[in-house]
Amino acid sequence: MSSKTDHYAVIGNPVAHSKSPEIHARFALQTQQDLSYERLLAPLDGFVASVQEFVRQGGKGLNVTLPFKLEAYALSTRLTERARAAGAVNTLKFDDGEILGDNTDGIGLVSDIVRNAGIVLTGKSVLLLGAGGAARGALLPLLNEQPARLVVANRTRSKAVELVHRFAAHPHLEVGDFAALDDAFDIVINATAASLASEVPPISPRVFGKRTLAYDMMYAKEPTAFMRFATQHGATARDGLGMLVEQAAESFYLWRGVRPETAAVFAELREQL
Ligand code: NDP
Repeated sequence: MSSKTDHYAVIGNPVAHSKSPEIHARFALQTQQDLSYERLLAPLDGFVASVQEFVRQGGKGLNVTLPFKLEAYALSTRLTERARAAGAVNTLKFDDGEILGDNTDGIGLVSDIVRNAGIVLTGKSVLLLGAGGAARGALLPLLNEQPARLVVANRTRSKAVELVHRFAAHPHLEVGDFAALDDAFDIVINATAASLASEVPPISPRVFGKRTLAYDMMYAKEPTAFMRFATQHGATARDGLGMLVEQAAESFYLWRGVRPETAAVFAELREQL
């Protein structure tokens, strides 16, 4: 590394589990970019101070993970359209006093479904389960693919209503109730945190058909409870490892202006889970 090495990090609490340093190190090697990328543990009440110190030391950009995505949104002095739509930021870029906030989670999801899994979203029926940060980030990129129907359902219904309300002008977007979902969708995306507790959102198996892609944003060595439930009912299941790699690639592109290849990085990470 030379003195021109640019510094990046992922900031969160906890952050030890993050795979972002491994991913970005591979991207940097592949594209021959001179950069370092570390984990930055911020105190729960010290996000802003930690970011300011990182910038003071010359840091160029941060990935932001739980629980700081809303604080990162508030701290940004400029926002991309998708970050504004999400109301949350997972990527910060520091440039001449400006703090640019972006959200690459949703585009990472869409890239993994469309490019990596080869599934077209345009004209399809899509069910999005959850209304937390990940679901919020996914909504605009999903709508940009012009699905015929996008239904958002959440355990706490009011949050799904609020989320859909943000995109009120969109004709193909609607709120669904877990208990009332009764017909098969082309794509069912689990953006709830249920898989973290090895639980499945309380939905009817009838949302899955033989041609359904069941996508769990969570990833693990073994298929998640949601993936097992979906395949038991005829669907094809995919986890969120590809989303993780694709959102990282999009952040890398924002920072460096170079688009890394993701397939080999994805394969290596899968091997190491
Ligand atoms: P949040 O805490 O912001 O939101 C959690 C959501 O899950 C809420 O909608 C909540 O509903 C719902 N939920 C929690 N437990 C259950 C349950 N037992 N049954 C039904 N619904 C439940 O989390 P995030 O949105 O940040 O993350 C959601 C998931 O997405 C996590 O598994 C996370 O790991 C994954 N993720 C993956 C990424 C990737 O790159 N692959 C990137 C970002 C997230 P309620 O409103 O009722 O509380």
